[in-house]
Amino acid sequence: MGNTWLSPARRVADRARLADGVVDVLVVGGGLLGARVALDAAGRGLAVGLLEARDWAAGSSGRPAVLLSGSGTPTRTAVRERALLLRTAAPHLVRPVPLLLTSSAPLPSDVLTGGLPRSRPLSRRAALAAVPGLRSHGGAGALRRWDAHVDGARLTLAVVRTAAGYGARVLSRAHVTGLLRAGDAVVGARVTDRTDESAFAVRARSVVLATGADGGGPTDGVPADPLVTGVLLPTSIDGGDHGLVLPVAGGVLTAIPLGEQWVVTHPGPDAGAVLGALDRVLVRRVPAEAVVAVRVDRLPRAEEVTTAGPGLVVAAGRLPTARVTAADAVDAATAGLPGVPPSRTAHLPLVGAHRWDDVRDRAPRLAADADLSTAAVDRLLRRHGDRVADVLALVRADPRLGRPLPGAPGHLAAEVVHAVTAEGALSLDDVLARRTPLSGADPAAVAALVAGPLGWDAGRTAREVASAL
Ligand SMILES: Cc1cc2nc3c(=O)[nH]c(=O)nc-3n(C[C@H](O)[C@H](O)[C@H](O)COP(=O)(O)OP(=O)(O)OC[C@H]3O[C@@H](n4cnc5c(N)ncnc54)[C@H](O)[C@@H]3O)c2cc1C
Repeated sequence: MGNTWLSPARRVADRARLADGVVDVLVVGGGLLGARVALDAAGRGLAVGLLEARDWAAGSSGRPAVLLSGSGTPTRTAVRERALLLRTAAPHLVRPVPLLLTSSAPLPSDVLTGGLPRSRPLSRRAALAAVPGLRSHGGAGALRRWDAHVDGARLTLAVVRTAAGYGARVLSRAHVTGLLRAGDAVVGARVTDRTDESAFAVRARSVVLATGADGGGPTDGVPADPLVTGVLLPTSIDGGDHGLVLPVAGGVLTAIPLGEQWVVTHPGPDAGAVLGALDRVLVRRVPAEAVVAVRVDRLPRAEEVTTAGPGLVVAAGRLPTARVTAADAVDAATAGLPGVPPSRTAHLPLVGAHRWDDVRDRAPRLAADADLSTAAVDRLLRRHGDRVADVLALVRADPRLGRPLPGAPGHLAAEVVHAVTAEGALSLDDVLARRTPLSGADPAAVAALVAGPLGWDAGRTAREVASAL
């Protein structure tokens, strides 16, 4: 694999290469699905461009805790893909999580568990031990099911970086404003570079639109995707290491414990309904003031790959099966191209996973070498995998970067610099929302760290901080 660093210099080079040449596959949308399409195509040796209007994973893929098999009983494909992520593709990013299902639903038939423990019924006592704040509900119907969760932005970033390593030309802040056509055929896209508002065109043999549920895909006659609300709550309200899955009107509520917080997802656009649903099962009322953040998004209905015309494929999908959907999209996009090999991504490790088995237990040694605590290096390993060395090299070069980030004791200052030099962050919000999410990092401290690598003057730095406050 080649260079996976998404630095400002790489962006300049990739933009020049995109504007000059013709790619085999041009992917529009840098969420998880678009990134997966780009990786699939680049892994087959094709010339690939990936354009994202905002930041990588700025759409619905960028939520900090996503359940890999969703809230229902996972399909066979979803279980297999979850196992691939846990074992080979991203073991450093994916974490198994026990979920408590407070319903009297029958035990899910998990003949396939992908290596996770099987579901089992829980006694009332065991259910209360798992989620101490749970209202006693007569003792019937609690189940424990295992799933895995992942930070959607980190997973997307790992896929984008891996695609870049296979030669894809990847550009964030590149808004596709229209398609280029020759007769009926789509032959590329018109793009506005949001960093300087300049316009350019990219020519392509085929274009794959992976613009997400709210991203401007074709809507004529298609019912709108359902809305879901995400809410962040402090875990101190309830405690316990289990997530919750509750049946509610219109679907299910899921609550995933994440460090000091709970990430709660609920069907429908109403944040009040989330608290109402929790009230029905928790002993202590969750006050509205406890809500840390609310976000309403659209949830894509299902996986779908459609050839919309010559040279144009539209892809939509869910997170666990994105790799498979992406392979289908590349098959569709290259249907007329001779000599294209089949997808090669099934056992492909993402950036950070290649030497995970070598580094996963080395936190004490790495910590001693870098004069950091073992806990700090453990957290780095979980976010950066075997690329932990890149972050530690920054600390070695400037020991001040080994200090915790002001406001965010779980992150090192070095990670902010790394976000810009290796992870494609171009604004303060990119760092706060998707590289250090839920961390409480102080915007001014983060801005001071990124101003140099991003070439900001005092005015730009102050504007970025003002917009983050
Ligand atoms: C609240 C919520 C909870 C969810 N929970 C789960 C879960 O637990 N498990 C699960 O599997 N799935 C879950 N999902 C679904 C999952 O997040 C999505 O299926 C997946 O992220 C979709 O990825 P995507 O790449 O298609 O879309 P997105 O991540 O939305 O990416 C589309 C990208 O296209 C870009 N774009 C749009 N228009 C243009 C343009 N003109 N030019 C350039 N770029 C453009 C956007 O900026 C965006 O970044 C959840 C979704 C939501 C909203």
